[in-house]
Amino acid sequence: MLLKGKETANQIKEEIAKEVEAIVNTGVRAPHLVAILVGEDGASKTYVKNKELACQKVGFSSTLIRLPEETTEEELLNKIEEINNDDSIDGMIVQLPLPKHISENKVTQAIHPAKDVDGFHDVSIGKLTKGQDTFISATPYGIIQLLDRYNIETKGKHCVVIGRSNIVGRPMSILMSRSGNPGNCTVTVCHRHTQNLEAFTKMADILIVAVGIPEFVTGDMVKEGATVIDVGITRVDADNSKGYVLKGDVHFDSAEKVAGYITPVPGGVGPMTIIGLMQNTLKSHQAKFNG
Ligand code: NAD
Repeated sequence: MLLKGKETANQIKEEIAKEVEAIVNTGVRAPHLVAILVGEDGASKTYVKNKELACQKVGFSSTLIRLPEETTEEELLNKIEEINNDDSIDGMIVQLPLPKHISENKVTQAIHPAKDVDGFHDVSIGKLTKGQDTFISATPYGIIQLLDRYNIETKGKHCVVIGRSNIVGRPMSILMSRSGNPGNCTVTVCHRHTQNLEAFTKMADILIVAVGIPEFVTGDMVKEGATVIDVGITRVDADNSKGYVLKGDVHFDSAEKVAGYITPVPGGVGPMTIIGLMQNTLKSHQAKFNG
C-alpha cells in the first residue's frame, strides 16, 4: 500500500490553514517564516519556492531573502542576527548547501533556538535527544507524522535506518527509539561502513532509507510486509523537458512487491518535510503569542 505523503500533506495543510484563519480572526498576525537562499543552486531554488508556496497555502507570511553566491560569512551572520532580533518573524531557515566559503555549522548555530524551525541548532538536537519538547528537524518530523496518520504500529518493532546524517538519519533514529508514539522501536542505524547490510534490512519491520544513492535498496533486501520509507531524492539525467527525473533511494518496482507500505518518490517524504517546517513555524508563533 502506498503511503501517500502528498495527499496527507495536503490534508494537514488544510488543518493548519484553518488554525491560522482562527488566529488571524482574533486580531493576531499570521505566522511568519523567512528563508535565506545564498547562490544559485537549482535544487535549492526549487525547495525554497515549494516552501514559499506552502506558506501561501496555509496563510503564513513568508519572506525570501536572496543573497549572491559571493556573500561573505560575516554578511550572512549579520543578516541572521537581524532576523533573530526581529519580533515580526517566527521562524528562519537558511537553505543548505551553502557556498564552500561559508561554514554551515557557524550558520546553523547562529540562528536563535527560538526561531530554529529547521531544528538544526545544537540546542534543538540536544533537546530531541533528551526527549524534551523542541523543534524536530523537518524531514524526520514529517515521516513521524506520516507513520502516525497511517496508524502504522511502531511499538516493539525493529526499525532500521540507513544513513546517519544530522538532518535525517540521526534524528530519525532518535525519534524511532524514543518513548512515545510513533516510537518505542528497537533501532539499528546502518551507514557506509556497515557490513552485510542486507542482513539488517531484511530484519526491519520499518526500513527508513536516507543514503542519497538512487535505487540503492532493492526488493530482495526488504522483509515481507515491511514499511519502507524512502527519503532519497536524486536528480538523474533524463531525456525529457526538465533534463532529469527524481529517483529515490529504493528501487520502487521491486520493493513495492514485498513491502506492506511504501512511500513513492516524488510524492512521499518530500511533501511531508514541508509540513514539518510549517508546523514548527506555527509552534514558534504559538510560543510567542500563547506563552
Ligand atoms: P548525507 O549524504 O548527509 O548522508 C548519507 C548517509 O548515507 C551517510 O550517513 C552515509 O554513512 C550513508 N551511506 C552512504 N553510502 C552508504 C552505503 N553504501 N551503505 C550504507 N549507508 C551509506 O545525506 P542526507 O542529507 O541524509 O540525505 C540523504 C538523501 O535524502 C539524499 O538523497 C537527499 O537528497 C534526501 N533528502 C530528502 C529530503 C526530503 O525532503 N525528501 C530531505 C533531506 C534529504
